[in-house]
Amino acid sequence: MTEFIDQPSPNHDERRSAIDMLVLHYTGMQTGAAAIARLCDPASKVSAHYVVEDDGRIFRLVPEQRRAWHAGVSHWQGQNGVNDVSIGIEIVNPGHEWGYRPFPDLQINALLLLVQEICRRWNIQKTRVIGHADVAPGRKDDPGELFPWQRLADKGLSIAPADPRKIASNPVPDHQACLRMLREIGYALDSNQHTAATLAFQRHFFPPALGRGLDRATRQALVEVHARFTNP
Ligand SMILES: [Zn+2]
Repeated sequence: MTEFIDQPSPNHDERRSAIDMLVLHYTGMQTGAAAIARLCDPASKVSAHYVVEDDGRIFRLVPEQRRAWHAGVSHWQGQNGVNDVSIGIEIVNPGHEWGYRPFPDLQINALLLLVQEICRRWNIQKTRVIGHADVAPGRKDDPGELFPWQRLADKGLSIAPADPRKIASNPVPDHQACLRMLREIGYALDSNQHTAATLAFQRHFFPPALGRGLDRATRQALVEVHARFTNP
């Protein structure tokens, strides 16, 4: 069982729906302590259920039964406002603004146990364990392209990213088919605004093509990841 350091935040309210989703974030501040202070400050009006430090310590800020305020304006798989149905975990990392860096093993090992416990407790499906950038493309980048999603996938906790060595034989879908697949995976987009969703998809599922738009390899990766989502 994971051990917690209780650090209660006042920033939560009542849920209106059952928990069936897990959203991962990075803190994006210079230190973990600064992030925790902000997440516990009533004036900030933000919070998360847990914060996982560099060294693997886990702070518990909001009881899981309560709605924490971590995702903001958000959408996934047809649902708006994912705070209502999700548990939010902040992973300490300075992020793109303050010096984005790889996530240490101690931190990821602690996170894996926590995610496993939460997913078992609430029966959260692996298609519903995603990043903040996935539910708020264009507005958020976290936990970002260095986050080791494959390690969660290895434990059956999330959908695996595309394997760059294996996608070359996949078909190359046309533009409209790509948009349909992005939507079916869960991204919010209308036909003219696929750029942000494509970038979020690359950060999570195909970092080698980050920023290259819907190029050939991204389309082939999309085929592979879409298949995993439709048959998890
Ligand atoms: Zn976030």
